[in-house]
Amino acid sequence: MRRATAVLVMTLLSLAACQREVAPAAEPAKPGAPAPWASDPAARRIEADVRKLADDGMQGRETGTRGYELASAYVAKRYAEIGLQPAGDDGTFFQRVPLLKATRERDGARFAVTRNGRTIELRFQDQFLPLQDFNAGSATVAAPAVFVGQAVHAPGLKHDDLAGLDLRGRIAVMFGGAPTRFDDDRRAFYASNAEKLRAVAARGAIGAVFVSTAADEAGAPWARSAANWGRPAMRLRTFPQLRVVASVSAAAADLVFADSPRSAAQLFDAARDGTLKGFALPGTITLAGRTKIEPIESRNVVAKLPGSDAARAGEHVVYSAHLDHVGIGAPVKGDAIYNGALDNALGVAIMLEAAHELAGATDKPKRSLLFVAATGEEEGLLGSEWFATHPTVPRESLVANLNMDMPVLMAPTTDVVPIGVEHSTLKATLDTAAKDIGVKLSPDPFPEESVFVRSDQYAFIRAGVPAVYLTGGIVPSDKTRDPKIALRYFMRNCYHQPCDDATTQPIQYGDAARLARLNARIGVLVGDAAQRPAWNKDDFFGAQFAAPAP
Ligand SMILES: [Zn+2]
Repeated sequence: MRRATAVLVMTLLSLAACQREVAPAAEPAKPGAPAPWASDPAARRIEADVRKLADDGMQGRETGTRGYELASAYVAKRYAEIGLQPAGDDGTFFQRVPLLKATRERDGARFAVTRNGRTIELRFQDQFLPLQDFNAGSATVAAPAVFVGQAVHAPGLKHDDLAGLDLRGRIAVMFGGAPTRFDDDRRAFYASNAEKLRAVAARGAIGAVFVSTAADEAGAPWARSAANWGRPAMRLRTFPQLRVVASVSAAAADLVFADSPRSAAQLFDAARDGTLKGFALPGTITLAGRTKIEPIESRNVVAKLPGSDAARAGEHVVYSAHLDHVGIGAPVKGDAIYNGALDNALGVAIMLEAAHELAGATDKPKRSLLFVAATGEEEGLLGSEWFATHPTVPRESLVANLNMDMPVLMAPTTDVVPIGVEHSTLKATLDTAAKDIGVKLSPDPFPEESVFVRSDQYAFIRAGVPAVYLTGGIVPSDKTRDPKIALRYFMRNCYHQPCDDATTQPIQYGDAARLARLNARIGVLVGDAAQRPAWNKDDFFGAQFAAPAP
């Protein structure tokens, strides 16, 4: 799962703060007793794959590292054992993904505010960080600055933070997020930092500054993410008009807004209340950054189960689960390996188990099924974006995407949460599949988190392909263990932290096996359906990213 841009993740985290902080109970409940899923071979296979992929030897599976290469070789071996066909480049299981890797350097970075004849220098890491630059090894801009609120231009909602502001040759200073009055889908779309940078670059800005608000940092402290400032970023493409982009901590926001019409605290309140208005800032801001830029290559791991019907086998249902995680980082309690057991060794293992079940069935679906273990998800959905825009099969043959990412299966449940079903005809398919499997479907408990745009399905959605993302349930099957509390505990303590490992967390492999069965059943139903899935009429995402012609 990708980090949320700005304010989105905070609701969940501030809810978490109200709960007593208790680690979910370890499994099994009685020491020495076998796990409830000990006799379920599917659950055992998933557990074995998770333990392998989240092992310290895989070094956190960061894109472009040896750990990721080892993990991708392991998945290819599993595809072959399961009996799938290679569907990557040149008859292999691997699809090459060309990337740029950018690592920022402390030397040469600068953020200075010049106002009323004096200059204030912000401190690197502690108060600001330049974003990695994919265009030039070093860049400097010095220009007047304009505060542009959340930089949201949403004509359909009659909202334009940029109206009446002249950004030509200026540095755009902005907050993350999107107005609270927007519905969840539109807020998710407009809260994206990429959309904001696109909007200000299109209006002539030459640099940009993201100011964290106090609300942003309530659950994700600046210091925690800044500790990993040396970690590289990766991209398929960039925004060349902006020469330097930087972010500033909430604590340093007063330096950016000094002597301006409104204080940082007033602006934080206005962001919360939806009354933000932009204005020109006095003086100039100087931004500089130095970045080491390297072209690198990573790989998606892609396999196919051919369809059984000659007329339909040329169409593809795409399963996806990202294989990469965030690698090695700042040590926490002496542990520097960010294993990513739930995020997303577990999603990959569930996809492999669904493939195992589908490949072993006597009746294969009419359409072909593709399995994509994607790279670069944590870097911005890069592997899935590459696959969705450069698929190894004809692009218009992709009929649906079924994604699995970070199922937080930390307490036993009776249900599954399908994210994004309400957007397309996949809803009816999922209702049928859930009934067939005997599992309940629950609505997204935290729609304001916008997880529908925070994982690989969004790359397919942007390519016009209807998608659904299946994640763990929220209805307890054991009254003493609340899955929602376990989810909050995980998000607050172990999400993108070294403690997301397979050795200490009480992962519910029985629930994982059920999720694999459900995924397999959905693949059969979509694979055999007379019609390919379609976006609902007037759906926001369907309209925003026009579907490819069938
Ligand atoms: Zn993640």
